[in-house]
Amino acid sequence: MISAYIGLGSNLENPAGHIFKALQDIMHICNTQLESVSHTYRSIAVGPGEQPDYVNAACKIKTSLQPLELLDAIQSIENNHGRVRDIRWGARTLDLDLLLYGNLNINNERLIVPHPRANERDFVLRPLLDIDAGLLFPDGTTAQQLLDNAAENGLQVLTTKTALWDSLQTGNKE
Ligand code: ATP
Ligand code: CA
Ligand code: CA
Repeated sequence: MISAYIGLGSNLENPAGHIFKALQDIMHICNTQLESVSHTYRSIAVGPGEQPDYVNAACKIKTSLQPLELLDAIQSIENNHGRVRDIRWGARTLDLDLLLYGNLNINNERLIVPHPRANERDFVLRPLLDIDAGLLFPDGTTAQQLLDNAAENGLQVLTTKTALWDSLQTGNKE
């Protein structure tokens, strides 16, 4: 089994609900276990035009799926959440990005890992650090060093990781 990290974001139609349901969906990916979750955050949208705030989070999984199989699985979850792909970086019901897959560097037509913009986004790095305060990227940079240099997007904690984890175990969103 390989450890991997997935970043979650939503800014349409009850974003916190989409994030919670997406974590439940990730729990059901075959040959995959949910290991831990971050706090959930509100963040100010970066992207074209005026957009609603985002809810962001990250999770750590253990999986025996190959990277492209995992990408297929998370894209099918996005589609089940009614993700429409029109404007690049436009508002969306659900975005799932494969942030890290073990210690691998991957670069093919469909998949680049580490996610190419993870290293500059506080709404990715803070959740990753909630899960593992000592997290290293494959090039040896610490997630904390990257966060220290990242622009700020007004992150506010919405739900703590403990409360979120407990809700996922009981299946009841508080
Ligand atoms: P950003 O990539 O800047 O976060 P985005 O999430 O809005 O933007 P999408 O429209 O969701 O971008 O994805 C565009 C394409 O990126 C997908 O079709 C997918 O094949 C590709 N992609 C490349 N690397 C990754 C990755 N690590 N995780 C998810 N998708 C990836
Ligand atoms: Ca994204
Ligand atoms: Ca994406």
